[in-house]
Amino acid sequence: MTKWIYSFEEGSAKANDLLGGKGANLAEMSHLGLPVPPGFTITTKSCIHYLDHPDFFDSSLKEEVLKAVAQLEDKTGKSFSGENPHLLLVSVRSGAKFSMPGMMDTILNLGLNDQRAQLLAKETNLDFAYNCYRRLLQMFADVVYGIDKGLFDDQLAAFEQKQNKKVHDFDLAQQQKLIQHYKTLYSKHKQEFPENPHEQLYAAIQAVFKSWNNKRARIYRELHQIPHDLGTAVNVQAMVFGNSDQTSGTGVCFTRNPATGEAELFGEFLLHAQGEDVVAGVRTPEPIAALKEIQPETYQAFRDYAKILENHYKDMQDIEFTIEKGKLYILQTRNGKRTAKASLKIALDMVDQGLISKEEALLRVAPSSISQLIHPVFEETALEKAPFLAQGLPASPGAASGQIVFTADRAKEIHQEGKKVILVRQETSPEDIEGMIVSQAIVTSQGGMTSHAAVVARGMGTCCVAGCGELTISEENKSLSCGSLVLREGDLISVDGYSGRIYRGELPTVLVENNQDLQRLLAWADEVAILQVRANAETVKDLTTAMNFGAKGVGLARTEHMFFGQERILEMRRLILADSEEETKEALTRLLDFQEEDFYQMFQTVQDKPMIVRLLDPPMHEFLPKDSQEIVALASKLKKSPDKLAERIESLQESNPMLGHRGCRLGISKPEIYKMQTEAIFRSAIKLHQEGQQIKPEIMVPLIADQKELACIKEYLVQHIEQLFKQYGQEPFPYEIGTMIELPRACLTADKLAQEADFFSFGTNDLTQMTYGFSRDDIGKFIGQYKDKDILSFDPFQKIDREGVGELMRIAISKARQVKPNLTIGICGEVGGDPSSIAFFQDIQVTYVSCSPYRVPAARLAVAQAALQTKN
Ligand code: PEP
Ligand code: MG
Repeated sequence: MTKWIYSFEEGSAKANDLLGGKGANLAEMSHLGLPVPPGFTITTKSCIHYLDHPDFFDSSLKEEVLKAVAQLEDKTGKSFSGENPHLLLVSVRSGAKFSMPGMMDTILNLGLNDQRAQLLAKETNLDFAYNCYRRLLQMFADVVYGIDKGLFDDQLAAFEQKQNKKVHDFDLAQQQKLIQHYKTLYSKHKQEFPENPHEQLYAAIQAVFKSWNNKRARIYRELHQIPHDLGTAVNVQAMVFGNSDQTSGTGVCFTRNPATGEAELFGEFLLHAQGEDVVAGVRTPEPIAALKEIQPETYQAFRDYAKILENHYKDMQDIEFTIEKGKLYILQTRNGKRTAKASLKIALDMVDQGLISKEEALLRVAPSSISQLIHPVFEETALEKAPFLAQGLPASPGAASGQIVFTADRAKEIHQEGKKVILVRQETSPEDIEGMIVSQAIVTSQGGMTSHAAVVARGMGTCCVAGCGELTISEENKSLSCGSLVLREGDLISVDGYSGRIYRGELPTVLVENNQDLQRLLAWADEVAILQVRANAETVKDLTTAMNFGAKGVGLARTEHMFFGQERILEMRRLILADSEEETKEALTRLLDFQEEDFYQMFQTVQDKPMIVRLLDPPMHEFLPKDSQEIVALASKLKKSPDKLAERIESLQESNPMLGHRGCRLGISKPEIYKMQTEAIFRSAIKLHQEGQQIKPEIMVPLIADQKELACIKEYLVQHIEQLFKQYGQEPFPYEIGTMIELPRACLTADKLAQEADFFSFGTNDLTQMTYGFSRDDIGKFIGQYKDKDILSFDPFQKIDREGVGELMRIAISKARQVKPNLTIGICGEVGGDPSSIAFFQDIQVTYVSCSPYRVPAARLAVAQAALQTKN
C-alpha cells in the first residue's frame, strides 16, 4: 500500500523526492536532535495523484490525515479539535523538491475558530489569541479562496479608527466584532470559513496542492528548469508562537554571508512576531547580532545549531527559527541561495576547513554563475525599481548603461566625446564592428543567439541583448519605439545581458572582482578535466583574454572577422568587385599583407598552443554595402561607376545565402582567396619558426559536404604550401589541414572525410541550422511560440539538441574514428561553451570544446564537473 504521509521521525534528507526539500530537512533535523516542533509531511506523490484525481482526497487521503493529526495530538499532549484547554494549532506549508521561495502557499494557526480563540485567550492572552485568529482568517481566505489579503488589512484599519484604539488594546467584545467583520468579507465573496479545524486543514492541504500549478509557480519552474511533474509536499507542523510576547520572536538566518561568502552569521529577526512578518517588511527586523544582546543564551544556542547544521549538510544553510517565550525552535533549513562570489568563496573556504573535498567544491559552483565573476552586474536594489522597457534574448552577459545610438558611426563619434553608448540596430553587420567595439552594450531587434551581434559581442565580452522584437528601430528617424513609448538618440538605457531585459535610464553596476579565488578553483578543474577547453578568437586582444582565462588553445579563428576594419573591408570589396586580374591581384596583395601581420601576432600570442585558422566562410555579399549612399561612396573609392557597381552588387545577392556560395564553395570557385590566406599563415609561421618559435599551423576548411570538395581544396593548398617552403628556403615543418563538420551530409560521410582531414571541428551553429532547417538568424521570431506550445523546451542554438544534432555528431565521430582512431575532434559552435551541453560532448568523446573567451572559465568548470560526474 502506498504510504502517503510520513511523520518527521520517519523521513530523512535523502527522501527529498518524496518529502520535498523542506519535509526532508525537517525529518533530518528531528533525527539530529534539533528542537523541531513535531509534524508530518504529505508526500509529493500525493500531490500529483490528487491533481490528477481530485476525489482521491476524500476517498483516501483524508483518513490518513486524520490519523496523523491524532498522533500529533498524542505527541504534543494538546488537542486539535476537542475540549482540551491546551490547543494544538498547526501550520501548513508547501515544500517541493527544489526550493521555490514564495511561489506557493502557507497557512499558519490552523485550528482556531470562534470558540477556540476564546479558549486560547484564556490559556494565553487576549491580544495574542485574536492576533493568531485574524492571521488565520486572512491567510485562509487568500490561499483557499483567493480573496485579496489587503481587504482584511483595510477592514482592520477602518475598525481601529472607528473604535479610536489600536487592535492590541481591544477588549473581547471588540476583538469578536472585528472577527465578525472579517467573516463578512468571506460572505461577500460567497464563501464561508469552516469552523471545524479538520475541515480547515483539509481545505488548506488541497489549496497547497493546487498552488503547485499557480501561474507564478509555473513561471518560476520554467525559469529554473524545474520539471512540472514533481508536485509539492505539504508539511503540517505544530505551531510555536513567535508572537506570544516580548520574549518571543521569529527570524531567518544564513550561516554565512550569502552576498560575500564571509563566514559570519547573516540574518535578522523580529521580536513579538510571527512567520511571515520578517519577510513582509511591515516592521524593520533587527540584525541577528542584536539577539546576542537581548537573549544571549538563545543566540548562543542558535549559533550552535547553525554550526551543527552546516557541518551536517556541509554547505551554507538558510535557517528559519522561532523563539517562543525564550525557547528556540528551528522551523526550516535548506542550502542557502547565494551570489556567484559567495558561492565561490564558500566552496573554497569549506575545502580549507576540511569540510568538503576539492571535487565537491568543483561541483558546488554553478558554471552559469561564473560569468557574474568576470562581467559587471546591475546592483540588485536598483534593478528592483528600474523602469522596464523590453525583453530580448540574453545573448552576451554583462550589464551596461549608456546613450542610445543607431549607427556604428554615431557610436564612434559619441564615444570620442567620452560618453558611453549603447548601439541599437535591427541587426549588426561586419561593417558595424568599430561601433560595436566602442559600445558598452549592443541591442538588436532581430536575430538570435548566434546572430552576428550575439557572436561578436560574446567574443568581445560585450553585453548584448539580441532579437528584441518589441522594439521598432528607425535608423532614419534616430528613434526606437516600444509600444507607445519613443526613445531618441542620446536617451539613456540600461541593458542586462544576463536576463535579456532592457530598462530606461542609467543603473549602477558592480564588478565582482574575485579572480584569485576563481583561478584557484579552475586550477583544480583542470586537474580532473577530460575534455580540453579552447577559445574562438581572432584578435590579439581576444586571444590574450582567452589565454588569461586558461584556454588551452584556439579552436576557431574566424578569418572573416579579420576583414571587418574599414581599411580591410575596402580591400575585400575591391577583391570581390574586381573587374580585372590586375585589380584582383592588387586587392589580394594588400589583404595578404594585412593577414600576414595578423597571423604573426596571433601565433606569437598563443605561443606553443594549438591555433586553428579557418579559411573564409561567409557569402561574398556580406562584405558589400547595401544602401545607395554607401554604394556611391564605395564607387568613388574604387573609381567605378556607381550604377555598374550597384548592378554588380545586386548580381551577387542570393536567395538563400546561408545555403549559397559560401565556405568551401568559394574555395572551389575562387581558389585565390584561400591561397592568399594560406600564404599569409605560412609566411608568418615561417618567420616565427626562423625566429625560434615552435609552430604547427592548422588550417580548417568550412562547410564541407563531400570528400571531393575537401580533396580538391587540400590539393591546391598543399601544393601552395610546398611552394612556399621552397620559396622561403624553409625545411618543411608539420602542419595540418582539417575540416569543419557542419552539414548533415558531412556527418554521414565522416569516414570518407576522415581520410582527407587531419582533424574535425563541429560547427554546431550551421549543423543545427541545417539539421532543423531553422535559420540561425531568424529563430528569434518564432522560438517563443515553440516554447509556449511545448514543441521546444530550449533553443537548440544555445544548448545541444542531443536527439537530432547530437545523434548526427555521434554517428560522425564513430565513423571517423573507425578510419582514424586518434582523430582530434572539437566543437566550435556556440553550444561548445554551454555548460549544460558539455557532459554530452564528453559522452560522445570529442577532444575539446571551443568557445568565446569570456565563456572559457565557465566551460573549464563545466568540463571538470562532467568528468567528476562520470567518475562518481
Ligand atoms: C558553426 O557553424 O558552428 C561555426 C562555428 O561557424 P560559424 O558560426 O562561423 O558559421
Ligand atoms: Mg559555420
